[in-house]
Amino acid sequence: MLEELRLEMEAMAGRIIGRRRDFHRRPETAHNEFATSAALRDFFLKTGLSVAAMAGTGLRAVLDGRPGGRTVALRTDIDALPLAEEGDKEYASTTPGACHACGHDGHMAVLQAAAEALARRKDRFRGRVVFLCQPAEELPPGGAKPMIEAGALDGVEAIFGLHLWQPMPTGTVGAVRGPMMAQSDNFRITVAGRGGHASMPHQAVDPILAAAAVVSALQSVVSRNVDPLQPAVLSFGTIRGGTVYNIIPGAVELSGTVRTFDPDVQALMKRRLVEIARTTAGSFGAEAEVEYEDGYPPLVNDAAETDFALAVAARLFGGKSVVPIRPVMGGEDFAYYLREVPGAFLFFGAGDGTRFPHHHPGFDLDEKALPSAAALLAGLALEYLARPG
Ligand SMILES: [Zn+2]
Ligand SMILES: [Zn+2]
Repeated sequence: MLEELRLEMEAMAGRIIGRRRDFHRRPETAHNEFATSAALRDFFLKTGLSVAAMAGTGLRAVLDGRPGGRTVALRTDIDALPLAEEGDKEYASTTPGACHACGHDGHMAVLQAAAEALARRKDRFRGRVVFLCQPAEELPPGGAKPMIEAGALDGVEAIFGLHLWQPMPTGTVGAVRGPMMAQSDNFRITVAGRGGHASMPHQAVDPILAAAAVVSALQSVVSRNVDPLQPAVLSFGTIRGGTVYNIIPGAVELSGTVRTFDPDVQALMKRRLVEIARTTAGSFGAEAEVEYEDGYPPLVNDAAETDFALAVAARLFGGKSVVPIRPVMGGEDFAYYLREVPGAFLFFGAGDGTRFPHHHPGFDLDEKALPSAAALLAGLALEYLARPG
């Protein structure tokens, strides 16, 4: 059955690539995916599935096989990035300031092909396949959580998803059993002092000096507070304050991100961030106010379902296609589904012949990966539903 699926997808390559290019030409950013969502809705209806809209531009399409059996979900994200595309692709973005620079256009085309292949086989499997088209992956708090709140996972016993992955060679597949992508939070610190003349610092409380000390002191959180065997990142992304060389400003604003895998480490970093910022600023007579925003939780694959998914990949493409990978500190809101039901998120290599990484204005995928990725998604659903019990 898997080999038949693989050959069928190879035969559909032209159509899959054509659809990916259509999505690529008309990118829509988080929560604005109206035309994208409408196109997907039409597709599912034409393919004979029932479709419900949810979470704004999100969709939940259902394909029933023979009665009884299990329910498995497959997910695609549907949003593009607020980024002007560069390069001279024949299928370049026609929307100024937006482009599919993460590969979600490919994810949609792959999910569509999987839906078609499964719909053709609906008399040959028992159970139900739920297709989730999720908005706003790129913009925390993201689309996964509202989809779940709207009932996306109702009755779902397992979920699978993949990311076409430029850093990996085309046709390779990898996943980590357990934590694979990081909790990604952001914070803002306002260090308030008292402004004054730069030549008379004794009459002022200098927030620039206090902010500099806060930045330095916070480097000790990862190096001195976090267990050295636990992954953790604390990076500043902005530092803003002041207007001119001879004025001590009233306040300085800092922002940055915290990346972790372990909830205890996250809690520790959050706590130390607030403590160190406040006490350090306080020691200069300044005050620090910290706003901390939890982002996507860590993406934690179910070990058994990861083994299952990689075994399906090995049967489809040969054992050599499955490659060991390490966790990454990037975030992904597929994490929310995996907190509700077991499943796995896979990286599917699509890097051959490409020059630019994800989120670069010149990003592109190796489209030769698309039929194989579609075969894998469809294969995961079929093999999951074929399990005894
Ligand atoms: Zn992205
Ligand atoms: Zn992405």
